[in-house]
Amino acid sequence: MKQKWVYLFEEVEQAEKYVGGDWEGVRGLFGGKGANLAEMARIGIPVPPGFTVTTEACNAYLESGGHFPEGMWDQELKAMHTVEAATGKKFGDPQNPLLVSCRSGAKFSMPGMMDTVLNIGLNDETAQGMIALTGDERFVYDAYRRLVQMFGSVVMGISDDAFEEVITEARINAGVKTDTELKADDWKAVTKKFKAIFRRNSHHNFPTDPYEQLKMATEAVFKSWNGKRAIDYRNAANIAHDLGTAVNIVTMVFGNLGDDSATGVAMTRNGSTGDKRVEGDYLTNAQGEDVVAGIRMTKDISQLRDEMPEAYQEFEDIANKLETHYRDMQDVEFTVEKGKLWMLQTRDGKRTAQAAVRIAVDMAEEGLISKEEAVLRVTPEQVDFFLHPQFSLEATETAKEMGNRLATGLNVSPGAAVGVVALDADLAETWAKEEGKDVIMVRPETKPDDVHGMLAAKGIVTSRGGRTSHAALVARQFGKPAVVGVSELELDMRKRQMRIKDVVIHEGEWVSIDGTEGEVYAGKLATTIPDIKDAWLMKLLGWADEFRHLGVWTNADYPSDARRARDYGAEGIGLCRTEHMFFQPERLPLVQKMILTDLPIERREALDGLLPYQREDFAGLFREMDGLPVIIRLIDPPLHEFLPSFVDLTRELANLKIGLHHAKGLEEIDGLLEQFKKKERMLGRVESIREENPMLGLRGVRLGIHIPELTSMQVRAIFEAACEVTKEGVVVKPEIMIPLTSHVNELKVQRGVLEEEAKRVMAEQGLDIDYKFGTMIEIPRAALTADQIAEYAAFISFGTNDLTQTTFGISRDDAEASFLIEYMEKGILPENPFNTIDRDGVGQLMQIAVDKGRKVRPGMECGICGEHGGEPASIAMCHAMGLTYVSCSPFRVPIARLAAAHAALRS
Ligand code: PEP
Ligand code: MG
Repeated sequence: MKQKWVYLFEEVEQAEKYVGGDWEGVRGLFGGKGANLAEMARIGIPVPPGFTVTTEACNAYLESGGHFPEGMWDQELKAMHTVEAATGKKFGDPQNPLLVSCRSGAKFSMPGMMDTVLNIGLNDETAQGMIALTGDERFVYDAYRRLVQMFGSVVMGISDDAFEEVITEARINAGVKTDTELKADDWKAVTKKFKAIFRRNSHHNFPTDPYEQLKMATEAVFKSWNGKRAIDYRNAANIAHDLGTAVNIVTMVFGNLGDDSATGVAMTRNGSTGDKRVEGDYLTNAQGEDVVAGIRMTKDISQLRDEMPEAYQEFEDIANKLETHYRDMQDVEFTVEKGKLWMLQTRDGKRTAQAAVRIAVDMAEEGLISKEEAVLRVTPEQVDFFLHPQFSLEATETAKEMGNRLATGLNVSPGAAVGVVALDADLAETWAKEEGKDVIMVRPETKPDDVHGMLAAKGIVTSRGGRTSHAALVARQFGKPAVVGVSELELDMRKRQMRIKDVVIHEGEWVSIDGTEGEVYAGKLATTIPDIKDAWLMKLLGWADEFRHLGVWTNADYPSDARRARDYGAEGIGLCRTEHMFFQPERLPLVQKMILTDLPIERREALDGLLPYQREDFAGLFREMDGLPVIIRLIDPPLHEFLPSFVDLTRELANLKIGLHHAKGLEEIDGLLEQFKKKERMLGRVESIREENPMLGLRGVRLGIHIPELTSMQVRAIFEAACEVTKEGVVVKPEIMIPLTSHVNELKVQRGVLEEEAKRVMAEQGLDIDYKFGTMIEIPRAALTADQIAEYAAFISFGTNDLTQTTFGISRDDAEASFLIEYMEKGILPENPFNTIDRDGVGQLMQIAVDKGRKVRPGMECGICGEHGGEPASIAMCHAMGLTYVSCSPFRVPIARLAAAHAALRS
């Protein structure tokens, strides 16, 4: 059988069969728009008759270097005849002409990135026929000039400016402000001038043969798949380049046939907040692109209810039907032609993170989707968005008081952004990429050609456009805060400045925008740590908790971090890095004294000084985590980190020497000499513990073996704190973690010493604490010998920062600043292994360790506390390995809860 390249909307079942029955396959073949038009027709929604030329045809065309595949054109002609029969009109017939649109539509929505031509079929003869039929000469010439204009720009690549100039001139000549006020004769004259522009720029006459028009438009849509802006968009949105676009040929219906006609776009729920209410914009007596372009001020869809009650009611019923059918929020385009409603498009609507969460939860509660689906519909990145900065209330209040709130527009994409004004996309990109500036891109409206600037900018402001404008859609999709339709905003491109009322802001000056509230401020506003207590998010994360197998713990050093993490749902502390507390100003001198002295008595004194501080640190954590496990890691970094640097000391000594030469009087000399001796001693000690490779040196468990008094002090502090809070009624579950073990004997020796100290404290206090001793797996040898290690460790925790460093043999401190980025750019490494666990190497070592460890100690607690513990792809690996928990920073806890649920639901 010959290949079928063209499918009528009513042939969707044949297409389904061809792709093996699966809807994703139909979407792949028909593109999203074509598939949904066919599907709407199938479920009885009024769709104008039409057909789809498949993505396979597009790919065949592009692969052959620009030839229609064999049989395609004949099939397109045949389909046209069926549409003629369905509409009772004839393509190119001067008496009763059929007009069609030719629309692009890929599998994944790429708003405005590819091309569309409307009103195909018009020429001088059919135009007369249309005038006779509609009695509306103005309408017909308006449609005709649109065809010439679109055909010129889309098919022949003529710049739109030339056409727009003619319209502006026509308005001036007619003494009117808007296009709608132009009369039939004006449009007739415009059409004539457009044809001249067409001829001048393309060196061809505008094609009068409708079939020629159709053929050229089909080709132009195929070609637009590889247009620059489409390629840029696909790169940014991670859409494959080999999918191709379908071409949809659809009977034209007109929203500009008078005041009983209208056209609009709508979302079945609010795309910014998720509120369950149809929202949208429309225009009476207008064509579709007028609404999306944001040139005319649109009306809110709620007005349609009063203006055309019947059509509105039908529209609302269809919106509900579509939501129920697709089980998701829909973004639709519609036209009312002389009172009759037609649906021109439906697709899953783009939404903000907030809306995504709310819609998923609401739909589950409405019984439209399951809780599992609701959880899977929200991405970890969307949860991350809740954690993005917002402006502090104080900052906005102060700004308002000082008169720095410049204007309010539509809050189409939430979040706060601060940056310097850039008035065009190229400059926004240059400033952001080459000069590292934070940029707010300010435009009258955005077009697909502006996407590169939008991606580079921190936020977007436009003076025109509505909630469904290009700027709003793109900003939402890429999570950029945006305020659109700021009607008071005037842009002066010549002077490169923006003006709001009497405030002038020049390009390069700072503004702050609040996409959550829709406000624009002058200057730089402070941002705050966000509140993630959104009721819908809380509910969704609660559901996620029901599905996940992995525990979600947190890395926290201080009680305030622990409290935040617990608020966010953490079920334990997976890592407290005790050495962080040593850096506090009142403690550092004690730590340095301990390191510098050779006298046991002085070391004892220093440690005794540190003990009460550490005890308080741990008591605070235990109180916050009442009832939950708390893993405390004993000191890990090399000691030199607590001392001044070798270079600084050498420099200071040189300065002191110079000081001595110029000193006046004995007293000054004595003082300087004293300092000199002290520094010299410090330098001597620093030199004596200096290591060429400190990361592979005296750190981790080695340090505990080398200075057992230090780790014993820490264990004493842990157990004294545990006893103290137990007496207060707090339930403590301390887990003491020994870092950087490579050989089981290290653990055996260190644990022996420490457990003795623990028992001593418990005996002193007369209490029995439920504790565990365990170790970190950060060195391949430890992973490979986890069975031996498990004899002495009640739990293991993967320090994947170090484990990645030691497995690859690359420095975690230096590699990312040097060759690692080059490796990723050259594709030598597919991912940054410090970001996502390297499955084949590090991941395999982890799996070996879990399996070997649990063989000796069934069900052993195995966790991860490296940075990977908060990264969704790594979390999925941890789930697959059967880890007990992932531990991550407090701010990533909500993300980890969702990612762990996704991993469980997908496995
Ligand atoms: C690790 O190495 O992964 C770890 C958690 O320890 P640190 O980052 O403190 O070395
Ligand atoms: Mg480590």
